[in-house]
Amino acid sequence: MHANTLSEIQTPPTAAHLQAVLGDSEAGKESGSATPDKPSAQPQPVGVTAGLENAPESSALGMTSGGASSAAPTKGHPVKGKITYSGEITRGGVTFGARDFGDTLSNPDLAKGSSVNYKSGTFEVSATLKHSIHYDVRSGTGPSGQTDIASEDDPDIKKTNYPEVVSDLTPGKDGCPPRNHFWAEDLTLKHELVHANDYKENGPVALAKATTWLNGQIAANVEQVKTLYDPFVFRFASALRTLQPKEDSEKQAYLKGAPDYEARAKAIKTKGDNKGYK
Ligand SMILES: [Zn+2]
Repeated sequence: MHANTLSEIQTPPTAAHLQAVLGDSEAGKESGSATPDKPSAQPQPVGVTAGLENAPESSALGMTSGGASSAAPTKGHPVKGKITYSGEITRGGVTFGARDFGDTLSNPDLAKGSSVNYKSGTFEVSATLKHSIHYDVRSGTGPSGQTDIASEDDPDIKKTNYPEVVSDLTPGKDGCPPRNHFWAEDLTLKHELVHANDYKENGPVALAKATTWLNGQIAANVEQVKTLYDPFVFRFASALRTLQPKEDSEKQAYLKGAPDYEARAKAIKTKGDNKGYK
């Protein structure tokens, strides 16, 4: 949420652009100590409304084409965000990494229909932050060819392999089962849903942090306000990563899922020890 979080931004092509927009005074603005310049003699006409899709290209203050992002605004008006959170969890739309059993993605964006209104010396941004959360798991076979074990009655469990199945599904101290040759698709799905729900729960807090940043900005015109949209979304994503650091989230999700794995491993061991497999 501070200047140094910009280094976490994962879209290199726009980094320079962001620097240009945010300028060096960002940290000061964030701490709330900066005071925007007094309104200039020629404020924007009252009631300027610019949809994201069809905004006027030029402005009263004479931003020239291509010049909008070349320097941070030195004069302008405070920006105020009225941003609504809309989080949606959907299964699918995930491309798995080579070693992933499943994965969860967080894709924030400003929804279409955002608008900027100049009101009483302030640029008011009305928008919805659309937070698309996608999760999914592999089907049947794990990333290294692991066999899915759906329950203690799974036909893939034999009297010869059940000790290995038990061992593969028994969580370690960190809650993570080794899953060398066997895995559990349904329990992995639950694991990914923990991540997805975390994203949705933390979304509004991340949005509040990004909005605090937005509210510390100034802009000379509607076009400059709109150059803040991308950095705003990045701020949201960055705040979310701070709220749920990857390692911690992983640990928590595994610990949450550990009782399910323990129960399945125990049921398999019991059935195996009682000569329940062929
Ligand atoms: Zn995970």
